[in-house]
Amino acid sequence: MKFEDLSLHKNLLRSVQDAGYEVATAIQEETIPCVLKGRDVVGCAQTGTGKTAAFALPLLQLLSTNEHRKTTGADQRRKRSGNRVIRALLLTPTRELAAQICDALYKYGKYTELRHTVVYGGVKQHSQVSALKRGVDILVATPGRLLDLMGQRHIDLRQIELLVLDEADQMLDMGFIDDLRRIVQTVPANRQTLMFSATMPPEIRKLSQQWLKRPVEVNVSPVASTPARVTQSVYYVEPSDKPTLLAEIIRSAKDPKTLVFSRTRRGADKIAKRLERDGIPAVSIHGEKSQSKRQATIRRFEKKNPPVLVATDVASRGLDFSGVSHVINYDLPEVPEIYVHRIGRTARAGEPGEAVSFCSGDERHRLRLIQRLTGDSIPIRESAMIAKRKNTPKPDVQLQPTEEKKDDQKRDDGKVSRASRPRFKQSGRRKAKAKRKGGSSSGKKPGRLKKFKASRKGTSGAKA
Ligand code: AMP
Repeated sequence: MKFEDLSLHKNLLRSVQDAGYEVATAIQEETIPCVLKGRDVVGCAQTGTGKTAAFALPLLQLLSTNEHRKTTGADQRRKRSGNRVIRALLLTPTRELAAQICDALYKYGKYTELRHTVVYGGVKQHSQVSALKRGVDILVATPGRLLDLMGQRHIDLRQIELLVLDEADQMLDMGFIDDLRRIVQTVPANRQTLMFSATMPPEIRKLSQQWLKRPVEVNVSPVASTPARVTQSVYYVEPSDKPTLLAEIIRSAKDPKTLVFSRTRRGADKIAKRLERDGIPAVSIHGEKSQSKRQATIRRFEKKNPPVLVATDVASRGLDFSGVSHVINYDLPEVPEIYVHRIGRTARAGEPGEAVSFCSGDERHRLRLIQRLTGDSIPIRESAMIAKRKNTPKPDVQLQPTEEKKDDQKRDDGKVSRASRPRFKQSGRRKAKAKRKGGSSSGKKPGRLKKFKASRKGTSGAKA
């Protein structure tokens, strides 16, 4: 469907055209008309489907044409700083996603007179407070910083007409539920609410029943389906072989733009360091890095010839990196839905992409869960380098004992002596029998007296 058929204002159609979009994506086609009619929407959409424009375009239209005011009957805007009050609140789980939504609002709303800003933690609040004081119509926020600034009376949500909860399932995963409850209680009840989630677990359904009024359900793809244009594969590989395999895959790809996922922050740093040591430029991004470092890393990744980006799941959701050719799951995630979010970083906006997973022995159950959730049977691949290494017999020195030891162990008839065979623990009965025979059941060395007697007889102590 064309954007012209979605009853969008000409100013918004202009920005859509500038963005180079020709036709609306499935989620846009379904969501935009519902939002424009003032309906609450709960949307289940996989990443990279054009979800941001699906809520941002009608939101901008409602606020800029004041159509929304008629449908919700919101109070007259209070005359405050710059004659503006916050009329729409967009909540997201991570700073990166918040910044990205902010960019999208700029892109889609550049021909409107609406102002927006973003607040998130991890940076000083001064510039955020200044922007709020200048007055904004739309606020994009992460829950923690929002509550912080509300507590300091820099933010007033009493005039909110539109509330958008983006990546709702991740907000719950990250433990924001109490923060969300406090925020939702503060915004007026007669608002319009849109909730988007990549997955629809029962908790999200319950919240949508509590917070949304007779929502229209928009479901553009089956829950947790993987993007069709991603080519998936898995390597069965032991943890110690993962660094070699990673370097091999990156080296063999042509002009790759690679995003590697690690389960832990320390892991991400280690992988990036190891790649650097192997001569492959790499950087890591995770929650422990300062906001300015994270932003700088993202900028570097978006430039020409980017380094490999090794990320924890902070970066797996919502981030819209352009042209990622490979997503590599260095560790398989514990929660299978995360796999879907991770591989959704590639094959965005109709481009192809590759998702490669490393699965060690103790990660097999995770792979089973992923295949069960997605319904995909992921093809298994083998690394030529690792296979070659496994098939090459190791050098003699490692397999064979030294000449001296060999002689020690070999009996005259060429067989290995009893002493060098593996020892098993003797049972109590055997021990007693051995004692009765006078032998040493414990294999202890003979005492000094025995040795002395034996030497006088001219035999070895052990046989005495
Ligand atoms: P999102 O799922 O909102 O993160 O969007 C994923 C990517 O798709 C972004 O790079 C958007 O710029 C792009 N996009 C959104 N809508 C369209 C469209 N109708 N046609 C082509 N690309 C789009």
